[in-house]
Amino acid sequence: MSYPIIAIDGPAASGKGTLSRNIAEKLGYAHMDTGSLYRAVAFEVLEMGGDPENADDALKGADSLANKIKNDDPSSSGFILHNAKLRGDEVAQAASVVAAMEPVRKQLVILQRTFAQNPGEGYQGAVLDGRDIGTVICPEADVKLFVTANIEVRAGRRMKELQSRGIEATNGTVLEDMRARDARDTERKSSPLKPAEDAVMLDTSQLSESEVLEKALEIIQGKMSGPTIS
Ligand code: C5P
Repeated sequence: MSYPIIAIDGPAASGKGTLSRNIAEKLGYAHMDTGSLYRAVAFEVLEMGGDPENADDALKGADSLANKIKNDDPSSSGFILHNAKLRGDEVAQAASVVAAMEPVRKQLVILQRTFAQNPGEGYQGAVLDGRDIGTVICPEADVKLFVTANIEVRAGRRMKELQSRGIEATNGTVLEDMRARDARDTERKSSPLKPAEDAVMLDTSQLSESEVLEKALEIIQGKMSGPTIS
C-alpha cells in the first residue's frame, strides 16, 4: 500500500517546520523534521568529542545515530530527535557541515524513505520537511512545496525562537550564522538546497502562520484529489 507524500523544502527559519506540523495535524499525516536527523548526527559527533569537519568523525556520528534509532523502540527514537539540545545554533552549524558529506547523507536516506513509505499506524500519509525531500529523498512526492522568506525576516524569527528557549544571541550573529548556513546548504555538491522542478514556491515573508497554512492547503487540494480538509 502506498501513502500520499508531501515534500516541503526550504532554508532555515523559512516557516517550513511550522507549516509541516500544521499540515500533518490538519490531514492526519505523520511528520518528519529531517533537519533533526542531521542535528542529531552533529550532536553525536560533538558528544563523542569529534570534529564535524572530519569526515571519519561525521560518519561515526551518523552510524551511531542510525544504530540508536534501529535498536531503540520508536518512542525513544522520537526522544533522540526531540532532544532540546539539538535546537541551539552550534548544533545547527555543525549539522550543515556534516550534511555536506555524502556518506552521512547516504546513511540517513533509508531512514527518511522508510518513514515516507510507512508513516505508521493511524496516519493517512507523510509530510517530510528538509532541504532535499522533493529533489532526492521523495522525488515521487504527490505535492512539493518550496518555502522561502527574506533573510532578515528569517533571522528575526530565529532570534525569537532562540529567546523563547532561553538561548542568548544577538541579531548580528544570528544573521551571520544564517548566511553561512544558507551558503553551505545551497553550494554543497551533495543534494544542495534547491527547489524541485515541479515544486510550488511559497514566500512566507509577509504571511501569518495561518495564512501560510491556508495557501499550502489550497495548493495541496489542487494537486491531490485525496485529502478532505475540514
Ligand atoms: O532544518 P534544520 O535547520 O533543522 O536543518 C539543520 C541542517 O541540516 C541544515 O542547515 C542542513 O545543512 C541540514 N539538512 C539537510 N537536508 C535535510 C534537512 C537538513 O542537509 N533534508
